[in-house]
Amino acid sequence: MNQTVVPAVSPGTLEIVPLGGLGEFGMNMMAVSWEETTILIDAGVMFPDPDQLGVDLIIPDMTFVEARGSQVKALILTHGHEDHIGAVPHLMPLFEGPVYGTPMTLALLEPKFEEHQLDVADRLKTVGPGDTITIGPFTIEFIRVTHSMPDCVALAITTPVGVVVHTGDFKIDQTPIDGEHFDLHRFAELGRQGVLALFADSTNIDRKGFTGPEIEVIDAFEELFTSTGGKLLVALFSSSIFRMQVLVDLAAQFERKVAFVGRSIVKNAEIAQRLGFLRVPAGIQIRDSDVANYPAQEVLCLATGSQGEPQAALSRIAIDDHRHVRLGEDDVVVLSARAIPGNEKAIARTMSHVARRGADMVTDSMKHVHVSGHGSAEELKLIISLVRPRFFVPIHGEYRQLSQHARVARRVMAGVEPKLQVLLAQDGDIIQFDAKGARIADKAPTGRVLIDVTRIGEVGDEVLRDRRHLAADGIVIAVVAIGRQNGRLIGEPELVARGFVFGEEAEASMFKDAAGVIAECIESSSLEERTDQGLMTEKLRGELRRYFKKRTGRRPLVLPVLMEI
Ligand SMILES: [Zn+2]
Ligand SMILES: [Zn+2]
Repeated sequence: MNQTVVPAVSPGTLEIVPLGGLGEFGMNMMAVSWEETTILIDAGVMFPDPDQLGVDLIIPDMTFVEARGSQVKALILTHGHEDHIGAVPHLMPLFEGPVYGTPMTLALLEPKFEEHQLDVADRLKTVGPGDTITIGPFTIEFIRVTHSMPDCVALAITTPVGVVVHTGDFKIDQTPIDGEHFDLHRFAELGRQGVLALFADSTNIDRKGFTGPEIEVIDAFEELFTSTGGKLLVALFSSSIFRMQVLVDLAAQFERKVAFVGRSIVKNAEIAQRLGFLRVPAGIQIRDSDVANYPAQEVLCLATGSQGEPQAALSRIAIDDHRHVRLGEDDVVVLSARAIPGNEKAIARTMSHVARRGADMVTDSMKHVHVSGHGSAEELKLIISLVRPRFFVPIHGEYRQLSQHARVARRVMAGVEPKLQVLLAQDGDIIQFDAKGARIADKAPTGRVLIDVTRIGEVGDEVLRDRRHLAADGIVIAVVAIGRQNGRLIGEPELVARGFVFGEEAEASMFKDAAGVIAECIESSSLEERTDQGLMTEKLRGELRRYFKKRTGRRPLVLPVLMEI
């Protein structure tokens, strides 16, 4: 897809290439090469903007990996967040080596491999903090860090030209929920021995002070457990295992049952319990189908949907469309997560739906119900001053965050000799380290690939340039006009297809039926659903996909465009 050539590794040179996550939020991935050996660090996804219709996920362009081919010897994972492991299933077929990760990280990958029908169990290698592995010229040590989920590590990679430290995602939580402390000692030791380069998480560089521990949310939740007369429904990321533990413990204390609601949260809670990272006292957990059988004031629901995702549990519950869970007037819904930029509108819509149910809504701007998993400025400074690298490369962030992190690093190291050099790199920059120093030397091909999950394949890149999917199954655009006030269908929906034709007559009859599917879908929806563009678009997309699959056996890319008139 990308025609740019991947340059060969220069002899006697360590080359590090960020393939994602530098200059954007998410899809973190990096390649580290010495002569014939390349190792990869993380392979994450980015979530699309709500206006990127028909796209479920975004992954880094893998041209670089394909070009390196058999030189790619291993994938090393820092932790199990989607922005670090979400693209792993797409990467597995492109190289042959093992995948190293902690038990939690690898466990979170298993269901993804199942979904993608990848039989790769024999390539998964469990490692833990303190472990060291050797891959060609590299020795990789795993170091415990704290973050918003268990079992996260930083990496110290010994290379022929020096030690490279990669922090992964971290904050410095000095009262960790699982009692496993950030290994500050090891960072300090490495700093004393001499570190060539530090690659450090920049996510929260624009927040001053310290981020604060996970236990900080307990006070606000204690208040909510005390004051809530009905159900307490907390929406959170399904990977927020520590937050779940805090809430489960409070539920036990305040004698509420706990129900996990939503596919990904049920799955992750199950994995975390199996590995011993989430401890649920006996007799407390109930199924979502049992929620209605208990008095509301005795129930805590932990649900997906903190970002207003149309298909998630909270969104369904908020419009009274969940199979088991209903909201009542005394219930309180808590958003225990930050809004990922771009999701504000969807979240606001969900809040309005909740308000219509008469339930109360609490967000982190009202009460301290969320604490970030990323270190703020003082924590980032501490790591720099412990590690004392010769070269500093800010990672994980938009360009403004990377450059702010660079400024902070220079200030921290101002009086230290030899002078710190900052390499302000972006995706695709080839960063070279050799006997003479370090520099950004060249550019490797990078980019974004859009993924349509239901099809498990590529849709195309940012501007749908990649036609592979379209060529195979085509695209159908449905333009649907609806009334702004009542959400009713106005006129006939208009359908346009490309690469999905069966002759004029067949197409006309198929589109007539598809228009019927649209009309029926809209009519059978509640007023609240009909007037919610995000929800309606998703619903129409699903219905039309099903219809075309059934009728033709093919899965065109379906893009419903809702116009309010
Ligand atoms: Zn991350
Ligand atoms: Zn993370």
